[in-house]
Amino acid sequence: MPHATPHRTHEPNLLDAALVWFRRDLRAHDHAALYHALRSARRVWCAFVFDRDILDPLLERGLAADRRVEFIHASLAPLDEALAALGRAHGHDGVRLLVRHGHAVAEIDRLARELHVQAVYANHDDEPAALQRDAQVRGLLARHGIALHTSKDHVIFERKEVLSAAGAPYSVFTPYRNAWLKKLEPFFLEAYPVEKHAAALAPVPEGIATGMPTLESLGFQHTNLHELKIPVGWPGARTLLEDFLPRMADYDRTRDFPAVKGPSYLSVHLRFGTCSIRTLAREAHGHAGAGSEGARVWLSELVWREFYHQILHHHPQVVGHAFKPEYDALHWEHGKHAEQHFAAWCEGRSGYPLVDAAMRQLAQTGYMHNRLRMVVASFLTKDLGIDWRRGEQHFADHLNDFDLAANNGGWQWAASTGCDAQPWFRIFNPVAQSRKFDPQGRFIRRYLPQLAKLPDELIHAPWEARPVDLAAAGVELGGNYPAPIVRHAEARERTLARYAAVKKRS
Ligand code: FAD
Repeated sequence: MPHATPHRTHEPNLLDAALVWFRRDLRAHDHAALYHALRSARRVWCAFVFDRDILDPLLERGLAADRRVEFIHASLAPLDEALAALGRAHGHDGVRLLVRHGHAVAEIDRLARELHVQAVYANHDDEPAALQRDAQVRGLLARHGIALHTSKDHVIFERKEVLSAAGAPYSVFTPYRNAWLKKLEPFFLEAYPVEKHAAALAPVPEGIATGMPTLESLGFQHTNLHELKIPVGWPGARTLLEDFLPRMADYDRTRDFPAVKGPSYLSVHLRFGTCSIRTLAREAHGHAGAGSEGARVWLSELVWREFYHQILHHHPQVVGHAFKPEYDALHWEHGKHAEQHFAAWCEGRSGYPLVDAAMRQLAQTGYMHNRLRMVVASFLTKDLGIDWRRGEQHFADHLNDFDLAANNGGWQWAASTGCDAQPWFRIFNPVAQSRKFDPQGRFIRRYLPQLAKLPDELIHAPWEARPVDLAAAGVELGGNYPAPIVRHAEARERTLARYAAVKKRS
């Protein structure tokens, strides 16, 4: 049973009180844990904890201007308002989201005891650190006779729900997707009708602190999130979805071109649960069923997300290790030269315009187009010979939508160390990728204005341009734009040798 049927109306053994702990699910509609709590208890309160176990390490590493923290902070206000509105619709004033700043394990335990609840409800978070945290919370609560109930919410199918006929997890995408689609019945796409049961949302009792900490009081700074007009919270997710739905039919044709508005830009909302995966999958499945190729391809991307989630569940060793263990023996570049190359890659100074424009998009916005994630990951690992784990960490620090499973999966795909990865001998040519996917250099021009005046045919590889053409465009190689830090053809040979050595040994 994936979730209790929405049509059950009578719940025996109703609890007196329950607490819903929001984590990566910052919405009040179609929410599994909230639904289960509302159906199980007479009085329900809701809480979110700014977890110091996650935030303090960011501050210690000097990442006080973090768009994700600001995104979460800005998304809590609409969640608070949605909960209050649900309460008011049932005649209850004073329903609020309780927001705390501390160590989540201790804060949830404290709140549960202060509120005298019998159970805490939360949605699954299958990242290894989250599982560890939840085990700690479960243990602490159990000491006081309080239960922790967790449910699937973040994906359509999780953990062991999609297995091969032999009962084994899939490590190849296409058969996984086929099995996923075969298992998909309308039931799995149904929303949890939270609003029907919201009468159990209870006003905050006297003596329990309400109020939202400021970003500054958490130790964080404002970023350019609002300047970038990144829509936040569940209303922001709704806006993005409404914007994407009319474009979905073209997704298969537009999704690979970074200068074109092809994808949905919903990844940060999927990450923080400001939209429901059931809504998205329902839309995609419905339009795909009606013959839309764009919707079919988009649904496949949502399935990739779940594919990597189940890979992380079944193979947690992928955090820090190659999925294919023989690739842990790869000899990556080290030393001063490699450090200079890594810094140039991070800062968008590789001399390859598409790579540099992509890395600047990441630095300036926290987003990077999927095609470009593949291009820059391939460039780091196969042109610069630098360990995929370093790129993975850089993305983890800077992507608004950073998701351990998808990021690890993407990096291991590009580095050819992963399950169902790009074959090791297939090495993206960054100039060919640029010509194919940004033919007029529109994306490059957006992030590298110093190259804007180069003609389309020269913008992908400025070092091939004649000095007179560079001068006419105001480009000075080694001046206002770097010369390439490696030659692709030579790097390719080094990479083939690097991987061949490992293949020979295994
Ligand atoms: P759309 O094209 O609109 O796709 C819809 C949704 O499908 C996305 O929001 C995402 O949830 C999912 N999705 C799409 N492509 C993939 C994919 N290849 N793998 C898994 N899920 C996918 N995605 C993340 O959400 N977080 C990450 O940390 C992340 N790191 C990546 C690192 C690398 C090296 C690579 C190659 C890919 C990574 N991706 C990651 C996948 C993908 O690039 C992003 O999901 C996508 O670019 C987000 O933009 P969008 O929401 O407009 O996507």
